[in-house]
Amino acid sequence: CFCQLSGKVDDCCCDVETVDLLNNGRIHAQISALLENRYFQFFRVNLERTCPFWADDGMCASKDCAIAPCSDNEVPQGIREFEMKHGRSAACESIETATIGLGSIDSSVSHTESSVLAEWSAYDDSADTFCELDDENDAGLQYINLKRNPERYTGYMGPSANRIWRAIYQENCFLDNPSSGDGADGRTGAESSDGYSQDQMAALLTNAAGSPMSSGPRDPVPMQEILGNMCIERRVFYRVISGLHSSISIHLTHQYFDKTLRQYVPNLEDFARRFGPTHTAGEGPSRLKNLYFTYLLLLRAVTKARSVWQAESFFTGNPTEDASVKAQIDQLVSTSLTCPSTFDERIMFAGDPAMARIMKAEFREHFRNVSRIMDCVGCDKCRLWGKIQTQGIATALKILFSAHLDEDDQAPLDSADLTPDVQDDPAAIKPQQQQQQHQQQQQQQQQHQKQQQT
Ligand code: FAD
Repeated sequence: CFCQLSGKVDDCCCDVETVDLLNNGRIHAQISALLENRYFQFFRVNLERTCPFWADDGMCASKDCAIAPCSDNEVPQGIREFEMKHGRSAACESIETATIGLGSIDSSVSHTESSVLAEWSAYDDSADTFCELDDENDAGLQYINLKRNPERYTGYMGPSANRIWRAIYQENCFLDNPSSGDGADGRTGAESSDGYSQDQMAALLTNAAGSPMSSGPRDPVPMQEILGNMCIERRVFYRVISGLHSSISIHLTHQYFDKTLRQYVPNLEDFARRFGPTHTAGEGPSRLKNLYFTYLLLLRAVTKARSVWQAESFFTGNPTEDASVKAQIDQLVSTSLTCPSTFDERIMFAGDPAMARIMKAEFREHFRNVSRIMDCVGCDKCRLWGKIQTQGIATALKILFSAHLDEDDQAPLDSADLTPDVQDDPAAIKPQQQQQQHQQQQQQQQQHQKQQQT
């Protein structure tokens, strides 16, 4: 089978076989059961926001793109009242306000509720969000029943969809001077840290992926070659987006509308067109592996914030239901902890502290742009799922990277948090060594200044 993958997931500490075992054996079943609960069925979202980057190019008129709205009494009273009071769509911004009892990032330390609140609030700097959020006061906010609007084939394709993907991949172009964009959408014409213009970089990325989007004949550049020249931060950015793209493609090929049968069925042909080696110049397997990458990054965030989930109330107003969700969440978190190794976030933003800070700010801003681009998706159902998924990934990025914004804040995780691979990997301790070196340099400089003053 062309889609049979094996071996290490690039830039992760884990292999495909381990993920398959864990996911197919337990996590998939546990998450599927969890999604049957009403708490996870309703998503509050504004699908009416205008595209901030280009003039609207119209909405998909197909009925498959349309959202089935939900009536107010469908949404559990508890969720509505709780969200009115605290705000919910701001999930990636303020986990702390959406929880009644709060947890800290490291469950090995026990806290009183107020100390946990203070700690998480400090960690959860609101300026540090990785996604653009819907305004809580927006009239366009509505509840959507996700079960009645599943992610599946809608027929959204062509120039509008292509433009979105192109713009998203273009965000992988990090600039030497982040403010130097000059195009109408503020993102064209500038040069990336690799010396490519953003347009060239987007074309390279998409051309390497065998895209019909690039104009004119080009020699395809193998994706591995491009990735080999990228720094780890950009590779991670690319893999996360590519993993998200794969996830969307898999969902729509798995539930593809068969016009003859008049029902949604798996479409192997379309799956092969998107991931098979012949149609993708051999890129299919790495695109699928990027899905594993994104999965592992999310799993790492779940385990890193485990005490937050464990302290969360998952309030619907029905005590039996809420207790059951809490128990299921506990079980899921325990299962995810059994994964021996996932993703080691300390490999990122680990170089020169000043550069690392700029790089992190850019990384965050670019992912925020990806979330803004979702308001340009011309199919309501695709927009809905695009927004949910970018918010989810942004939440994970925030959990993984927020604590390290300050150079002095690069404290390593507990050794208990280190996976065996990471503990054994000399490269993994590089950030600590660099930090120590940096501190030594600072001390030497301070001593030198004192001597000069005296
Ligand atoms: P596309 O998927 O549009 O890809 C464009 C190019 O990108 C490809 O030619 C390839 O070179 C490259 N590429 C493809 N996959 C990857 C990857 N994983 N990594 C790196 N490069 C890659 N359609 C639906 O039917 N249902 C949905 O729910 C849905 N949701 C969407 C959500 C968003 C945010 C967007 C932007 C689009 C969505 N679409 C959805 C449309 C769908 O993603 C495709 O654009 C559409 O099916 C047309 O596919 P395509 O063959 O032109 O290739």
